[in-house]
Amino acid sequence: MKPGVLSKTPAARPTVSMPRLSPSGWILLALLPVLAAAPLVLPTYQVTLANNIGIFALATLGLVLLTGVAGMTSFGQAAFIGVSAYATAYLATVSAADLPAPLAWMAGSPLAGLAVGLLLTLAIATVLGAVTLRLSGHYLPLGTIAWGLSLFYLFGNLEFLGGHTGLSGIPALSLFGIAFDKAETLFYLIWAVLLLAVVATLNLLDSRVGRAIRALRGGQRMSESMGVDSFRAKMTAFLVAALYAGLAGWLYAYTQRFVSPAPFSLQAGIDFLFMALIGGVGQVWGAVIGAAGVTFAKQWLQDLLPHLLGRTGNFEAIVFGLLIVLLMQRLPGGIAGWIAKTFERRRQRPATLESMDLPDAEPLPRRPMPQKGEVVLEAKGVTRRFGGLVANRDISFSVRAGEILAVIGPNGAGKSTLFNQLSCVDRPTSGEILFRGERIDGRTARAMAGAGLSRSFQHVKLLPTMSVLENVAIGAHLRGSKGVAAAALRLDRAEEARLLAEARRQLVRVGLGQYLHAEAGSLALGQQRILEIARALCADPCLLLLDEPAAGLRFLEKQALAELLVKLRSEGMAILLVEHDMDFVMGLVDRVYVMEFGERIAEGPPETIQTDPAVLEAYLGGIE
Ligand code: ADP
Ligand code: MG
Repeated sequence: MKPGVLSKTPAARPTVSMPRLSPSGWILLALLPVLAAAPLVLPTYQVTLANNIGIFALATLGLVLLTGVAGMTSFGQAAFIGVSAYATAYLATVSAADLPAPLAWMAGSPLAGLAVGLLLTLAIATVLGAVTLRLSGHYLPLGTIAWGLSLFYLFGNLEFLGGHTGLSGIPALSLFGIAFDKAETLFYLIWAVLLLAVVATLNLLDSRVGRAIRALRGGQRMSESMGVDSFRAKMTAFLVAALYAGLAGWLYAYTQRFVSPAPFSLQAGIDFLFMALIGGVGQVWGAVIGAAGVTFAKQWLQDLLPHLLGRTGNFEAIVFGLLIVLLMQRLPGGIAGWIAKTFERRRQRPATLESMDLPDAEPLPRRPMPQKGEVVLEAKGVTRRFGGLVANRDISFSVRAGEILAVIGPNGAGKSTLFNQLSCVDRPTSGEILFRGERIDGRTARAMAGAGLSRSFQHVKLLPTMSVLENVAIGAHLRGSKGVAAAALRLDRAEEARLLAEARRQLVRVGLGQYLHAEAGSLALGQQRILEIARALCADPCLLLLDEPAAGLRFLEKQALAELLVKLRSEGMAILLVEHDMDFVMGLVDRVYVMEFGERIAEGPPETIQTDPAVLEAYLGGIE
């Protein structure tokens, strides 16, 4: 079959009798009977251990999302658990008379404890996130360290929270007439909450918001230019992580029936990070594996080392640290990452899976397009200075719908500087840029993505371990609206199907229809460039800005790219490309704008440019 031709009817496919379950579905199916039976057959102390693992796994799950998936390091997870655990413990033990009259009903109510615990955790996370998440790099880890430390001392010093001795005498949990007073009954509650959180997290990651969160690690500039609000995606991951910690704190208080500052120290915050990293970076099930692994390893070392060494002491901490270093070196993706990879290899999923398993969905609404020949983009006297250097001087041109304009010039001519201003990454020192008649200089790249201006990058920017289809779906981000809650509860399926169908449609349009489920990183460079164009097309643009699209491509790849651009032009797209490669440009574009030293030296159809003496001297003489 010709590449890119979508086979419409899945009829030829053999009928599949087994229900299609995702790997996580199979894990759940296998886990449920084991979990149901565990409290019935295990001795109580092991059930208690499993309860702790469940609570740790819940908190770790938050870190898998925050650190593993979104790439933000937090040392504060234990402190968040502490806030919720203390709120729960306080309300469970306080007498109604000690609370202000309107709040007296909260005394002894587990649900009030849950609500207050979660609200407090989320409120603190909101403030901490607002302060640190806009700043780059190290502010979040440092902020969470500071918050973890100060909270630990605060717990120890507050009289009404029992100071260093903590709060004891928490009554057994009773919910809707069910008493959770034994490890065995608590087990079901804890693991039910954990599994629900796991499913919600899996759902979240497999959605529009999930793609925005997954793009945070290594793809922020790209996703912003596709209209993704990175700050919001970060905040979402941070709040979900805090929410899981809050839930874990509530369960902790009712499992231990006693809270004190020690378990919520910075050290504990570090332990949770270890659990997340050992379990698997970005692997949802890794939270469970990591929590269990670390808990068991610590237990064994504590029991084993004194025998081996013949003396007692905190040797387990040292050996544990060494084990972690070793494990990280051997399995950088964590245990779950390693398992996932092994299975992936076993299944030998063909990289060119056909697109038949995607149901057709109603097309997304489209924006009104400009008429052919209408001016879409206009630069008027654009000047950009860097100190004394004038990188662009008085640049003026326009691009029309159904036309390809190339901006060319030797290295250092100022092309990238111009491109950045046109794509709203940078703004002119003076002059105006108009898009469909409106001034856009000074607007954000994110705002322009919504208006119909889409771009590609000089150095391909995609998420290499994400599928081709999902990478392209990021381009359609602004054409959907469903949020976190809808995603977690799977209420976003109709919209998600439309977004994915649009991504597939664009991939078929550019001729990558047979690579939908391949990892984007496995494509050849030429295909990755074309993937970027499909992603840009997903935003339903009327202008494509392409930054050196032919750079690094082989001859045939260049030809395929040129064919695609010609096709898009014939459909009425306005295309501006910045290009170094003269040969590529000459056979393809309608007009050429030539720059040197930041200034225009020639402009016109390729035939006249090719023979222009100024161009020949400045440009062609310079290369080859
Ligand atoms: P091209 O893309 O055509 O090779 P550029 O736009 O990258 O050219 O660069 C044009 C000139 O502007 C160069 O002299 C470059 O050093 C300078 N320049 C580009 N960006 C900056 C910046 N952010 N600060 C200072 N000078 C810059
Ligand atoms: Mg450049």
